[in-house]
Parts: sequence; structure tokens; C-alpha cells
Amino acid sequence: MKAVVVGGGISGLTIAYRLLKAGLNVQILEQSEVLGGLARSVNLAGQIVDRHFHFFCESELDFRRMASEVGIADRLVWRRISRAVQLGGKIYPISTPMDVLRFTPLRFLDRLRFAANVLRGRHFASTRRLDKLTAEDWLKRSAGDVVYETIWRPLLESKFGEHASCVSAAWLRARQKMQQENIAFIRGGSALVASTLAERVRRLGGEITLGVAATGVDLDGSAVAGVSTTAGQLSANIIVSTLPMPRLLSIAKGPLAEHLERFGGLEYIGVVNTVILVKRPISPYFWLNTNDANVSFAGIIDMTNLDPAGSDKPHVVYIPQYCPTDAELFEAPKQEIISRIVGDLVKVNNEFSDDWVLDAQVTKDCFTQHICTPGLLDRIPPCKTPVRGFFMTEWSQFYPNDRSVNNSIRIANACAAATLDFAARRSSF
Ligand SMILES: Cc1cc2nc3c(=O)[nH]c(=O)nc-3n(C[C@H](O)[C@H](O)[C@H](O)COP(=O)(O)OP(=O)(O)OC[C@H]3O[C@@H](n4cnc5c(N)ncnc54)[C@H](O)[C@@H]3O)c2cc1C
Repeated sequence: MKAVVVGGGISGLTIAYRLLKAGLNVQILEQSEVLGGLARSVNLAGQIVDRHFHFFCESELDFRRMASEVGIADRLVWRRISRAVQLGGKIYPISTPMDVLRFTPLRFLDRLRFAANVLRGRHFASTRRLDKLTAEDWLKRSAGDVVYETIWRPLLESKFGEHASCVSAAWLRARQKMQQENIAFIRGGSALVASTLAERVRRLGGEITLGVAATGVDLDGSAVAGVSTTAGQLSANIIVSTLPMPRLLSIAKGPLAEHLERFGGLEYIGVVNTVILVKRPISPYFWLNTNDANVSFAGIIDMTNLDPAGSDKPHVVYIPQYCPTDAELFEAPKQEIISRIVGDLVKVNNEFSDDWVLDAQVTKDCFTQHICTPGLLDRIPPCKTPVRGFFMTEWSQFYPNDRSVNNSIRIANACAAATLDFAARRSSF
């Protein structure tokens, strides 16, 4: 039985690996010339680094199990997280409950309300109830307007841009629950996860086709017949899509398109991510939120600050800016984006000078954050569709959790199990 997996990111690679292990004939179709999707790497002054920063939490068990299964768990380096926020030109640590109690931009009562909201969200709030509220309403009600405006609004805007005020409270609460004191990075970067899975796929006899995009799902009545691609047609009994809903809708027809349209247009935004190699750290923190209106970006993630062996090395620093793909920023020339960011770094560290920058790269990706609005719990497309042989993963299936490598693996495992169940029933006829 022939299965085509559309997309060679972590989801597609995981599904292909599971199907091959169970004995199916599998081909991965990937439009790009490299595997890994958002988890691939870039070359920064001869150093291979993640295209987008990646860290992992202790609670991410699906990822940790997969890392053990494919033999890369020993590449995880666990560290205590260090977080801070910049406000009014000053930097305040917010890594521990004591830091929060000492956070002077808020009055003491507001600090207590901030801490109480985080604790209540982590332990008591119900997903079903929070799915009906926006994060803004929930936070204003439970922590107050000042806490919302000082802490949460800038964070939500940094991740969702113009959609910040319609993000669901259930999403925010799941993020709060996920935050942990210990996090890991992977030596070799997230691309190591993709390359290790790809090696397993090849070893099990899987076929990987790069530089070829799926352009249509071909049906025979209400069953899968094959895939149209930029290199011609492929016949298949099973198709597993790992594409975001807007991309999948653009290649779906007939009963598949009708089925997908019932889920009411799931929206995504893009990211412009600037990765800079600097001679010296810009701050001592792994994660620094820049909640200052006069700084053009919302945060700096310094991966080298996580690395115990990194103190004498140049630092790899990420500055992600989420925005719609028709925003001025998304269309701006890369050199202009770098100049704007480098020009603002001195507002974060007044010792910073341009000659600290050894190299910089800008990457732009279109489908990098799905917009989780209230009511999403009832609009999640299942992995199994009414089209016989067609299965799908979609980031809304992670909800209320955020997108992550862990969740891609978790949902890919579930989707592979459903696909194998279908294959077993078909072959028993
Ligand atoms: C800025 C940023 C920071 C992140 N930080 C973290 C983090 O710290 N920790 C963490 O766990 N996760 C993080 N993530 C999320 C993580 O990278 C993703 O959740 C994960 O890589 C998604 O994998 P995927 O396979 O589901 O999707 P993708 O990686 O998007 O893969 C989809 C693949 O499909 C291909 N494709 C699209 N259309 C077609 C077509 N028509 N035909 C064939 N192929 C097609 C694409 O080229 C792509 O390779 C981050 C993401 C971003 C953007």
C-alpha cells in the first residue's frame, strides 16, 4: 500500500518513520530543497545554527521519548531558565517568584495579582471555560488593567501582532502551564532532530523527494487516488498532509475541500526572524522581553546564554518579529531589517556597538503561528477525514497548547496510528 506524506518538517518525518516501521511503502514530498521545515538550520559565519531558536521543556514527554528512541537524548542540555523584561530603559529579572515580588514597575498589590493569576491559571482554570474568553478579558478580570497593560499586552502583541486582543484565554493558560524552570537546548540544533528522523526514514526504505510541491489532492469519488505535484502525478492509496490549513485548502477539491471549509478558515501569521552572531552578550538572560515602545522588536533570545560551554564564544541571538505576510516589515529588504535592529540594540545595552556584530541573517516564513481565537476547541479538524485514505495534521490540533516540536511529534504519532488502522482494515478485505 503506497502512502504519500506531504511536508518534510518534523510532523511529516515522524509520520513517515512510524508508517515505514509498520511496513508501509512511503514517499515524502517536500517543496523545499531541504528537510526540516521550521526546524532547519542556517549558516552564520560558518557556524550551522537553528533557523529559528528552539528550546524544550521538561514536560514535553513526546519529544523526549522520540529523542531517546532515535538515540539523541544525550544531546539535550538542561539549564535553569533566565528571563527578564526591559521597561522604561531598565531591565528586571522575572525568572523566580521572588523576582516577581521585587518587580517595581508594578505596585506591590499588582505584583501579587500578577503572581496569583499565573498560579490560578496553572493549577485551577478549566480549558472549556477559558476557551470561551479572550486572554485580554480573562487577564484584565483576574489580574487587573495595569498588570495586563504592563506585562501581558506587549507579550501577546509580540506573538500575535494585530490579533493580540482576540487570542483565547485557554491558549494563554496552556502557555503559562508549560513554562518551567528547567529547559533544554539540543547540541546540534533542532535540525539534528530532522536529520536523525530522515536517516531513519531512509534506512527503512522510505523515499524522500525534495524540491517538489503538492499542487492538488486527486480523488476517485470520495477516496484518495493520488497527488498532483510540480513534477507530475503520483498515485497513492493514502495521503497524509502536514500542511497548515490555508495551504491544504489551496490544493483540496471536491468533498475534501467541502469538509475542510466546515472548520471556518484557520488563520496564520508569519515571522521575520533575525539571527545575529555577536562578540559579546547583549544581556545575561536567555529570554529578554523588550516591552519598550521605542525599541522596534519585542524580545531577544540568546541561545548561547543557555550553553554552559558558551561563555567565551560569540553569542547566537534571535530577534523574532511575528507579523502578517503583507505587513511592511515582511516585505522590507533584509539589510534594512538588520540595520533597524542593530540600531536599536544600543537601547537595550548602552555599551553595544555595531562592531560587536560578526554576522546577521534574516529569515522569513509565512506559516509560523496559528491564531488561537475563542471557540477554537469546537473547530479543530480531526486527523481522519471523510475522504477515504486522506489524513491530516494541523496545528489547531495542538490547541489549547502552542505549536512546538513536541506537539508536532505528539499529533504525528496519533495521526500515524489512525493511518495504520485504516491500512490494516483495508488490507484485511
Ligand atoms: C520563531 C519560531 C520559534 C520556535 N521556537 C520553538 C521552540 O523553542 N521550541 C519548539 O519546540 N518549537 C518551536 N517552534 C515551533 C517548531 O519549529 C514547529 O512547531 C515545528 O518545527 C513544526 O513542524 P511541522 O512539520 O509541523 O511544520 P513545518 O516545519 O512548517 O513543516 C511543513 C513542511 O511542509 C512543506 N510544505 C508546505 N507546503 C508544501 C507543499 N504544497 N508540498 C510539499 N511540501 C510542502 C514546508 O516546506 C515544510 O517543510 C518555533 C517556531 C518558530 C517559527
